[in-house]
Amino acid sequence: MDGTSPLRPALTIADLVADGLALAGDAPVLERVAQDFRLRLTPQMRAASARSAGVARQFVPSPAELIQRPEDMFDPIGDDSHAPVPGLTHRYPDRVILHVTKTCEVYCRFCFRRETVGDTGHLPQDQLDAALDYIARTPAIHEVILTGGDPLVLSARRIADLVARLVAIAHVGVLRLHTRVPVVAPDRITDALIGALKQHPSVWIVVHTNHADELTVDARAALIRLADAGIPLLSQSVLLRGVNDSADALEALFRALIRLRVKPYYLHHCDLARGAGHFRTTIAAGQAIMAELRGRLSGTALPTYVLDIPGGFGKVPIGPDYLMPDANGWTLTDPNGNQHQYRDPES
Ligand SMILES: *Cc1c(COP(=O)(O)O)cnc(C)c1O
Ligand code: SF4
Repeated sequence: MDGTSPLRPALTIADLVADGLALAGDAPVLERVAQDFRLRLTPQMRAASARSAGVARQFVPSPAELIQRPEDMFDPIGDDSHAPVPGLTHRYPDRVILHVTKTCEVYCRFCFRRETVGDTGHLPQDQLDAALDYIARTPAIHEVILTGGDPLVLSARRIADLVARLVAIAHVGVLRLHTRVPVVAPDRITDALIGALKQHPSVWIVVHTNHADELTVDARAALIRLADAGIPLLSQSVLLRGVNDSADALEALFRALIRLRVKPYYLHHCDLARGAGHFRTTIAAGQAIMAELRGRLSGTALPTYVLDIPGGFGKVPIGPDYLMPDANGWTLTDPNGNQHQYRDPES
């Protein structure tokens, strides 16, 4: 791949109508949605959308996106409230997020960064230099997390340059990438890209995926290439109404991932992004699904269910809770829902 690595041409609403993914009568409204929140699908996700409603709902715009709710927020997770220099979010002392680009291979209709992701491209060189300079003079930073947008839309050559510069900062022991590319644009996972990443002695990839039907033959092959290269793989998913808000849908996803050597890491409660209210479920519903999955799946396949507290206060596990204090010590709930007493011998 060359240095510019052009993205594929964007789809149009007419293409979606032709595919039977959108109603012709909705086209004028969807044009407005696509002006407000961009439209992009890869050929792989276009084909997968035609086969699976759970995939289509994530990528095909909906008239419901024009509905704004009072709880909707512009910057739901507070990226901007912890930005020491442009393009960098430093919320936790030991790790930073570096927003290397605002571009993605797909635009997810529920994206929590939907106000900032777009076609406007990569972090300008002077801002990247300033961000790397901040990291270099902040020894408390042990881990750099590349995100965006999607960091793997950068060409292999740009990634090689960036990783080499991070390798040169001795206190950055871990490099992590959060990306949807292995799933939505698996042809980008080339030997050149893997070589660029592997310059760092501890590079981890967190793959964003929400439905087993996204894991096409090509996506599986890309994940296998990464795992075979020795790169540890984790996943993050968003709990989405109408996509994966059932124990069956998430069981299928997490089983598929663990077979591919991808450890489910986080299940995010859906953030308060503007125009994404139709994707949200309740925390109680999410807890019930997680409790059911604990009885069905091995611990290796279970992610932690988390909420990013609106306003930029951080991510926290949101249950379900198995441990409650009582008069004598603790009451524990087992995976079958039965309760048991426990008294701390040391207390
Ligand atoms: C989610 C997030 C991280 C990474 O959190 P982990 O719990 O380590 O995965 C780091 N910084 C910010 C600002 C985040 O939102
Ligand atoms: S790939 Fe990630 S950053 Fe890009 S639109 Fe989807 S959720 Fe947002």
